[in-house]
Formats: sequence, structure tokens, C-alpha cells
Amino acid sequence: MTCEGCGKALGVFDEGFYKKMVSRGEEPRLCVACTARYFGFTEEKAWEMIRRFQAQGCMLFPCAGAQGKSEIQ
Ligand SMILES: [Zn+2]
Repeated sequence: MTCEGCGKALGVFDEGFYKKMVSRGEEPRLCVACTARYFGFTEEKAWEMIRRFQAQGCMLFPCAGAQGKSEIQ
């Protein structure tokens, strides 16, 4: 699965963010950056939101630090 906007391979955070923001029932088609652009905010803002979703225990996103993911700065 790759992003329709920029062609990047979609990771778990890209898929989770798309499902959270667009539709859970849809196959994810955009990465975090492109989903953010679609809604008119920055990628930085998108990661802020992802961190908040994680803090709320959203199941769409792995815990910070889980699986050795280093995408969250
Ligand atoms: Zn993209």
C-alpha cells in the first residue's frame, strides 16, 4: 500500500491517522503528511494529534516506543 499523494509506502502511523481522520472502513490511501495537507494543516500538527491519540490509548496507533518505531520524535 502506497500513498496516492506522494508514493511513499504507508506505515502503521500513516494508516492509523488516515483511518482516524477519514474513515475506519476505508483502505488507507494517504500518508500522514498528505492526509494533513488534505485537511489543511501541517504535518507537524498531524504528529501532535497522533501523540494525543496515543495518549488517549487509541488502538489505531502503537504505543510510543513500541516495536522500536522511531517515527515519533
Ligand atoms: Zn503522501
